[in-house]
Amino acid sequence: MDRQELAFTTPSGRPVRLAFDRRARSVGGTHAGTLIDGRCLRPEGPGYVLRDPSAACGTDEAVHLLMFALGELLREFPDTPPVVIGTLSRPGGGPVPPHKSHQSGRDVDVGLFASNGRPLGDFEELDIEAIDFDKTFFLMANLLASGRVVRILVNYALQPHLVEAAGNMGYDEHQLAWMFQYPRGPKADAGLVRHAPGHRRHFHVRFACPEGDAGCVP
Ligand SMILES: [Zn+2]
Repeated sequence: MDRQELAFTTPSGRPVRLAFDRRARSVGGTHAGTLIDGRCLRPEGPGYVLRDPSAACGTDEAVHLLMFALGELLREFPDTPPVVIGTLSRPGGGPVPPHKSHQSGRDVDVGLFASNGRPLGDFEELDIEAIDFDKTFFLMANLLASGRVVRILVNYALQPHLVEAAGNMGYDEHQLAWMFQYPRGPKADAGLVRHAPGHRRHFHVRFACPEGDAGCVP
């Protein structure tokens, strides 16, 4: 076990230094990999409910950054209902049908927020006007700010609304172009936030290989 430290600045401009014990190892790729000593989310915790407790484990940084982003969300929106967290990886990684990825502790499915603070107990397909894009993007933004997220997958139909929420938060044109594939089309090879079929009830977050995990395939 060793210590890992992550330093970054939150979207609100606050410098953060996260230090934690590190024991998990991500091995192989997200579509054909394993996870050694995965760090697992508790079945219940502040700000979230777990949808799939049998696959709630990830790398130390994936789990810590997820918890950090949820903490930021609760600080900004103290009255928010919990977010539904879907599949991460199994404690030892490997296949998690029906997912193709989620094998090496670097993938997390995160639910959307419903407007008017309506709590959700599961992923739910919501009409556009029934989605709280400000909260949904706020959570994405705090994950992206870590610099450790390499991809967010979400249906292209939701992207214009997320872009609008990002603009309201103060991101400028260059930052939006770096962050989002929209408006360049769902097949464009651009932006960290990309289209994936489905992905209307949740977004999928992929973390980078943790530094020092020699067996991790990006
Ligand atoms: Zn996923």
